[in-house]
Amino acid sequence: MKKICEHCNKEFTISSGEMSMYEKVGIELPTICFFCRVKIHLSFWLFGKFRRGKSDFSGESFITVLPEKNRYPIYTLTEWHSDVWEAMDYGMDYDSTKPFFTQLQELQEKIPHPHQNGSKNTNCDWCDDVWNSKNCYLSRSVVDCEDLHYSYRNINVKNSVDVVVCFNLERSYDCVYCDHSYHLLYSHHSRDCVDSHFLFDCRNCQNCFMCWNLRGKSYCIENIQYTKEEYTERLKDFSLDSYSSIQLHKKRFEEIMKEETVHRQNFNLKAYHSKGNQLMNVKNCYNCFTISDSEDSSNCIRGRCEKSCIDTGGCWDSEMVANSASCLNGYALKYCNLSPSRFSEYLDLCIECEYCFGCVGLKKKKYCILNKQYTQEEYELLKEEIISDMKKRDEYGKFLPYSMSAGPFNFSTSFLYFPDTKKEDILRLGGYWEDINESNIEGMPTSELPDSINDITDEICSQALVCPETGWRFNIAQNELIFYKQNNIPLPRYHFDVRIKKNMKYTSVLESYPYQCHYCQKDIQAYYPPEWGYKNIACEDCYQQNLN
Ligand SMILES: [Zn+2]
Ligand SMILES: [Zn+2]
Repeated sequence: MKKICEHCNKEFTISSGEMSMYEKVGIELPTICFFCRVKIHLSFWLFGKFRRGKSDFSGESFITVLPEKNRYPIYTLTEWHSDVWEAMDYGMDYDSTKPFFTQLQELQEKIPHPHQNGSKNTNCDWCDDVWNSKNCYLSRSVVDCEDLHYSYRNINVKNSVDVVVCFNLERSYDCVYCDHSYHLLYSHHSRDCVDSHFLFDCRNCQNCFMCWNLRGKSYCIENIQYTKEEYTERLKDFSLDSYSSIQLHKKRFEEIMKEETVHRQNFNLKAYHSKGNQLMNVKNCYNCFTISDSEDSSNCIRGRCEKSCIDTGGCWDSEMVANSASCLNGYALKYCNLSPSRFSEYLDLCIECEYCFGCVGLKKKKYCILNKQYTQEEYELLKEEIISDMKKRDEYGKFLPYSMSAGPFNFSTSFLYFPDTKKEDILRLGGYWEDINESNIEGMPTSELPDSINDITDEICSQALVCPETGWRFNIAQNELIFYKQNNIPLPRYHFDVRIKKNMKYTSVLESYPYQCHYCQKDIQAYYPPEWGYKNIACEDCYQQNLN
């Protein structure tokens, strides 16, 4: 079935597989294309900019990524989960003369947001979306991590800085999509590697420098074998302590990615009858991205343990969840955001609710509409009335509108995936945008920093540095300096959020492009934008035969 996207006006198709999925989960057919669906889902998930704030309940101070100018009160996470307030106190009667989304937003703006998302952490105040972690700093979307700084979307990473979408790393720096490695620096898409720099798609390598597609090697430089002594000698000439040398190595690394490396058609592992990228241990997952341990799902992004889900962004441990964002432990949810709940529609920030419709901030409730309690019979009747009114106004079946997102689009997770989005397009759709200008702040331009980490003294920790790209101020923390010194890493020159965004580029491509297999010349689709200039891309079969 062909349709025109209501947001971007481009044509999109709904496949017969998708049709039967929509039927199975019982939601309306989408009126916007896959990309616009991902865009709106992830726009509700704030990436933000860390700032100090105060609870609107108690005045207690906190660190948050929620915006300073916001449409709702903010409470500390502890206050939010406590019984010092009650979301039912804000209950509203349904008014059939007004659009439902208008009423839901009116309710939403009265309900507090928790200052941080996460639980079971120790000393992770300067973090967001952080779970079961310890001593992490200025990091987001981290699970089971420890001593992690300036990082994004990691699971079980320890004592590392600037890592993005990584798993099971230790003592690593500036890595993207790496797994199970120790002391790995400036590397991409590698696993089971130790004591190495600048690796791309390497496995089981030790003491390697600037290598690609290697398996089980040691003491290699640019894929050439050396003796241990030769390797150690050569490594000394690479001046890893110097920022300008690292920039040259990075340039060479980029060149190698373009000219030499054989790139896999996709980075899927144990993906059966599935299509997409960065899939791990999945079955029957179609058009999914960065998903693991999931099955029978379509159009899902950033998920884990999803079953029979469609059109979800950031949903974990969920089943039959559709057209929803950031729902953990969800079952049979439609059009919901941040709501670990069941059998419900149009929820925002609701915890363990069942059979609720259009509610915000409720905990453990049943048969509520607009935060008002009804009997089961009243609930069913009113719900049907609202759905019928919504259908007349062309509202039903659509995800929550952009105007209900938590903050500016250009500070949302969505912006990491769609960095070319235009301000006017988001404003036209009712969303928000904020330009943070810090050009008046005092600090030292990073161009004035000494080139080598060896020439940096402890005094730098009391010096504000100014990012040359954003003009934003950042500092070097004491622990961070120790890490750089111990691992011979020059000081970063850019604000940590800029560093994350630069690395996210490699793991956020949702569109495939036509290529010919480097080996068999077969026509293939691969997730590398043509402007990256990657020359050698292999189909799955040829990659397995030649490089596994
Ligand atoms: Zn679209
Ligand atoms: Zn091939």
